[in-house]
Amino acid sequence: MLRSTKIVATLGPASSDPAVLEKMIRAGVDVVRLNFSHGTAEDHLKRAQLVKDVGRDCGRTVGIMADLQGPKIRVGKFADGKIMLEKGQSFVLDAEIEMGNAERAGLDYKELPRDVAAGAVLLLDDGKIVLDVVNVRGTEVHTVVRHGGVLSNNKGINRQGGGLTAPALTAKDMEDIKTASRLKADYLAVSFPKTGADMYMARELMRAAGGKALLIAKIERAEAIPALEEIMKACDGIMVARGDLAVEVGDASVPALQKRMIRMAREHNKLTITATQMMESMISSPIPTRAEVSDVANAVLDGTDAVMLSAESASGRYPVEAIEAMDRICIEAEQSQPVNLDQDFLNRLFTRVDQSIAMAALFTAFHLKVKAIASLTESGSTALWMSRLNCGVPIYALTAQTSTRYRVSLFRDTYPLVVRYVGHDREELLREAENVLIASGVVEDGDLIVLTIGEPIGKAGGTNTMKIVKVGEARQGGSRPPP
Ligand code: PGA
Ligand code: MN
Repeated sequence: MLRSTKIVATLGPASSDPAVLEKMIRAGVDVVRLNFSHGTAEDHLKRAQLVKDVGRDCGRTVGIMADLQGPKIRVGKFADGKIMLEKGQSFVLDAEIEMGNAERAGLDYKELPRDVAAGAVLLLDDGKIVLDVVNVRGTEVHTVVRHGGVLSNNKGINRQGGGLTAPALTAKDMEDIKTASRLKADYLAVSFPKTGADMYMARELMRAAGGKALLIAKIERAEAIPALEEIMKACDGIMVARGDLAVEVGDASVPALQKRMIRMAREHNKLTITATQMMESMISSPIPTRAEVSDVANAVLDGTDAVMLSAESASGRYPVEAIEAMDRICIEAEQSQPVNLDQDFLNRLFTRVDQSIAMAALFTAFHLKVKAIASLTESGSTALWMSRLNCGVPIYALTAQTSTRYRVSLFRDTYPLVVRYVGHDREELLREAENVLIASGVVEDGDLIVLTIGEPIGKAGGTNTMKIVKVGEARQGGSRPPP
């Protein structure tokens, strides 16, 4: 059973063993996420190579997403590793001190005293601890504990409503962009962008490093919400990064934001990844909770390109089971959904020739109920346009370009196939495409398919032709087979 929604799995200690990685890939991982918050450049390069090797052995095209750490907005360390905060007590965050104690904590993020004033609410450790700022004196932020608990070394700090000025790209991120380019990452995820300019800067740095990754903006700051439109224009896709986002905008706002962001991204021809705590209980349990099953299914119904695993696959006890669970939940959710072309999309205006062919192919495929759409593509953009709208027909991206095969790994409904033909003859190319589809078990003689292609063949240029083909007919010279 073909799954439309793609699965992203974060790698870590739980998924470093090649045998486990192989099981994960066979269970359905489409893209792995390398988390640059942990490990050295060397670790990531090795891991990327392992993924490509194991993927190839399994006959799967597994994409690689490099996820930058972004600014570390964190408290420092404590002499005892952790402290206990009681509701109502005073507590100071002090940018000057090195080591924290029961009364005060140091700050990795030295700008905090400049970014907050009396009345600000600070959320520590993903909101488990809440501090009300009463005043700021020099480098000291004086607070009263609203919700207490255990606070351990280097826990994250968010400000309710946003407003922390840390730039999206740190010196470490700039180095990591070079590593990501060296390991030929297919996707580069930027943490905590606030504006389109943050994304343009990441793109410039990546280009300078020779990288060709598609850029993913992680939407996890309050400021990113009013700037969504400009961020989308500056990136290739977004991640609904619910962990940090929920802390900044309030958890109850996130479900509606998720729906709005996914819809908006598709309208802008961008990709979406829905992330964080999707299968959280599977860090320590072999089966998901009912709520988690619903969450994954609802992300599918929202139209996300991919669902993502974080700690579940990086450090959990059941990485393979978590992928198996996502796989079956996605498939069932996809089948429960009637396929209807979205009226709003059909009213959309487009002026590009290649995009017009993509939309025509989609419309035709839906109405003729063809077996497959085959897009002969150099860059994958025709497949991207077609996959923004669910027409219920799988899209095969047929290409000689290895990088294109890997980059479509995240596109909903889209599957890469290799076509090696390099000649200039249209009929030969079409025959080759048909052979590849048959050999891959996608179609058989008599099936209808919709093909998109750029003519003249062998010349770089956009898709400008759509053809409806009955598989096998060309081979039989267009005549009926003998009775
Ligand atoms: P992270 O991003 O896992 O890198 O923090 C995702 C999120 O915040 O949800
Ligand atoms: Mn985050």
